Amino acid sequence: MAHMNVPNRDEKTQSMSLANSVLVGLIGEGIGPSRSPFMHETEAAALGIKLIYRLIDLPVLGLDVSSLEVLLHAAELMGFSGVNVTHPCKQAVIPLLDGLSDEARALGAVNTVLFREGKRMGHNTDWFGFAEAFRLRMPGASLERVVQLGAGGAGAAVAYAILKMGAKHIVIVDVDPQRADDVVQKFSALFGADRISGAASAAEALIGATGLINATPIGMAAHPGLPLDSALLRPDLWVAEVVYFPLETALLKAAREIGCRTVDGGGMAVFQAAEAFRLFTGIVPDAARMLANFAAE
Ligand code: NAD
Repeated sequence: MAHMNVPNRDEKTQSMSLANSVLVGLIGEGIGPSRSPFMHETEAAALGIKLIYRLIDLPVLGLDVSSLEVLLHAAELMGFSGVNVTHPCKQAVIPLLDGLSDEARALGAVNTVLFREGKRMGHNTDWFGFAEAFRLRMPGASLERVVQLGAGGAGAAVAYAILKMGAKHIVIVDVDPQRADDVVQKFSALFGADRISGAASAAEALIGATGLINATPIGMAAHPGLPLDSALLRPDLWVAEVVYFPLETALLKAAREIGCRTVDGGGMAVFQAAEAFRLFTGIVPDAARMLANFAAE
């Protein structure tokens, strides 16, 4: 086979800096329904920026996560400013990067990779997405004792966000106790053992709680239902949801019916995209416009 003269990453980045358009994308599995292309491209158009957001769906290409390094290299060579990554790449991408933001390192998960000056830098904007949405939609909510269901990828980002926002205590419940324990151990070390614990059941965890977060997939179109017995809800609990497809989950509906303050998962999805957009382009997007476009789509 003829030898291919592949430029190194420094040469590639220099040529990219001359470009007047932005090429980004998302690498993951089953990302066909992702709203990221719509969110990024619509906001870029409103700002007068030429931006193309490509979906790089591993199974559609006949690939799996073992192709991630090749795809990152290809994206760099083809002038991408960066890529978002999602399941199953959020941890797998870390050994392929030159550096991590403090938050990505703390979470052990990356959802945004920037290609800059021949280097690949990993960031995590999921936690920021939850924090911004919560600040906007739940002003004054008590963070005295927060119960979180689900300790997977989204759960780790949300627990990190709520602790960064000053939660006095967060209780993690997962049907897989090892997963809950992993998150408790990770954030005890970072935020203090008095601020996070695990519980065996939602009923036990909710005694004296001020708020409830669903970070499980239960409530998604593909996983309908409630992640806990609705009899455990009380009007004095605020309820935050990470599921955003659909926006109105069975949990939010049940919570609203008894008078709880609620926040849906759409804001987290929009603000994680807004922060990734800022990282990719260097331009702060209009998050209010992004929220309105997301709700109207
Ligand atoms: P995951 O599979 O990594 O983790 C889900 C966890 O929930 C697992 O540990 C599982 O054991 C646990 N679980 C399932 N049912 C439970 C129950 N009834 N009670 C307690 N724990 C339970 O999934 P993930 O990647 O963390 O995603 C979770 C959800 O978050 C998905 O619906 C995803 O779409 C959503 N999400 C939303 C955003 C957003 O921007 N709004 C971002 C990321 C993920």
